[in-house]
Amino acid sequence: MIKAGSTSAPLFFFDFNVFLPSPSSAQRTISVIGDAWTLRILRTVFRGRRRYSDFVSELGISRAVLTDRLGKLVANELLIRHAIEGGHPEYRLTERGLDLWPMFLAMWLWETEWGTGVMDDVPPVEQPRPMLMHTVCGHKMRPQLQCQHCSVVIQPFDTQAEAGPGYLHIEPGTQSMFRRASQSTLAEASAAQAHTLMRVIGDRWNSALLAAAFKGLKLFSEFEKDLRIGPNQLSDRLGELLNLGILRARSYTGARQEYRLTRKGVAMFPIVLEMMRWGDKWLWPATAPIVLRHKPCDHLLVGHWHCGHCKMQLSRNEIHLF
Ligand SMILES: [Zn+2]
Ligand SMILES: [Zn+2]
Repeated sequence: MIKAGSTSAPLFFFDFNVFLPSPSSAQRTISVIGDAWTLRILRTVFRGRRRYSDFVSELGISRAVLTDRLGKLVANELLIRHAIEGGHPEYRLTERGLDLWPMFLAMWLWETEWGTGVMDDVPPVEQPRPMLMHTVCGHKMRPQLQCQHCSVVIQPFDTQAEAGPGYLHIEPGTQSMFRRASQSTLAEASAAQAHTLMRVIGDRWNSALLAAAFKGLKLFSEFEKDLRIGPNQLSDRLGELLNLGILRARSYTGARQEYRLTRKGVAMFPIVLEMMRWGDKWLWPATAPIVLRHKPCDHLLVGHWHCGHCKMQLSRNEIHLF
């Protein structure tokens, strides 16, 4: 976890000098769930709501949008529509839908630490925040994402990207080139803003940009090429991520401008990691374009969430989250 005050922590960014023809796993995941309403509906289902009318009343969503998103969630096999005899149908999470819980956990953690915790369906700041409790040990705790092999808590700087089985057109020697960025002078995270997380993760271009930033892309032209996004749209999105304090821009002589993650942006690493994990597992198994190696133990990175108090691995039913 990136703690406030660790401004001198070195950042490792990797340089991909080659064009990446396949979208990252995180981008693939975003294409399925990367929509603010979709995320809100899923969160509501995780909290035990199952009926159409529940979604309408809890989310204040229009029926046209709700019908559209529920249809997509069913088509993508995240939700299953259960006909109830003599009653309204219920929407339940499938196994692949349930497996999104670690991503929602990562989002929740980011929100409590970097956002204001304000989303339309979360109590405002002045109200008591929901507690996170590990029911097995009975303690209030902060979950930690640990490496399966060495149990070290995973930090963004401790991972290194490599070509995965779905990575095409590898030019020898280029895909694993890393360079150490100059000592970070990360700007203070900007004042927390309402809806930041939803704007970042719930907008497919913003989240794709975030994933690309973690991939090491820094230049306007790199984002443009990687995301196949038009220049005007890219300008808008970069501007928004700058305003939200996720990216900062730095100009160099020669008029080249680089976009880098702020600490607030770097703190989103577990969310991106969970998007990658989920996408690799459920959408395109065995064709991950990029895999991450955990530098401390040199194994391919597999992360699991553990209780920060008793260190046991967490499972979905053992935490009070939503
Ligand atoms: Zn490890
Ligand atoms: Zn515990």
